[in-house]
Amino acid sequence: MKCIEIKGRAKINLSLDVLKRREDGYHEVKMIMQQIDLYDEIALKIIGNGIILNSNCEYIPNHEGNIAYKAAMLMMDHFHIEQGVEIYINKNIPVAAGLAGGSTDAAAVMMGMNELFNLQATKKELMELGVLLGADVPFCILGGTALAEGIGERLTPIKGFDEWIVLCKPNISVSTANVYGNLEVEQISNHPKTEVMIQALENKDIKLIAENLENVLETVTEKIHPIIKDIKKKMLEYQALGSLMSGSGPTVFGIYKDYNKAKCAYENLSKVYNQVYLVKTYDECQ
Ligand code: ATP
Repeated sequence: MKCIEIKGRAKINLSLDVLKRREDGYHEVKMIMQQIDLYDEIALKIIGNGIILNSNCEYIPNHEGNIAYKAAMLMMDHFHIEQGVEIYINKNIPVAAGLAGGSTDAAAVMMGMNELFNLQATKKELMELGVLLGADVPFCILGGTALAEGIGERLTPIKGFDEWIVLCKPNISVSTANVYGNLEVEQISNHPKTEVMIQALENKDIKLIAENLENVLETVTEKIHPIIKDIKKKMLEYQALGSLMSGSGPTVFGIYKDYNKAKCAYENLSKVYNQVYLVKTYDECQ
């Protein structure tokens, strides 16, 4: 029986700007996405027909409600696959955390099925197809570091950086739709300096990267969950070069150059929160 195992890596946003609300309800964004080495493990196996999905996580559905299941349906439909696929997701990325955990699984299923069924689709083709599942899926297929525009699907790769990241997710749930719903785009006074961030990344100027971390959704989520501000403060007390909420939250990350400082932050935050991670940024090309 042919099978394959693949890692689906999470992302953080080094900056997140919202430019306007479109008439179709989507928001036009300008974000810098960075893949990190925190991953779900996805195993795929060819079966006679249909889709079977199982996981180690009770918080995600095992039917069409799971975006990974939807990804398999889309691949089977688009490439006229007659056999079926069995999917197992070993989830390590926290759910509804602002880390694109679902999009990452969908991307992994698409890339894995491409290999498993020898479809020979290019990354570009998969990215164009992936956006039908969600705005973050194309980036999860591309990986590395990228500027994301449009609804998040227009991607320009940029040079990444290689540093330690501490992540801390408080035990609260945040709905992305709710956060965007509460955002008043015209009222945003502090837009991220995206071009400065791109330059900082190109020059691997970690100090400038840390100084320019900015997410316009942070104020919205912070208002509902002040704990986010507390975690950011803690990250900085533990000597992070900079700290920010990722996506619509609630995960907060800190950037560390020094491994020992990162480890100290990780250990101290772990005493209070049970979803704390110490990982590196990830770029398969580096
Ligand atoms: P983003 O950063 O793209 O906003 P997120 O990290 O905030 O995403 P996800 O972990 O993708 O959020 O989960 C959002 C919702 O999608 C959850 O309510 C979850 O039940 C559902 N979901 C469906 N499939 C998956 C999956 N494979 N992994 C995680 N969540 C999934």
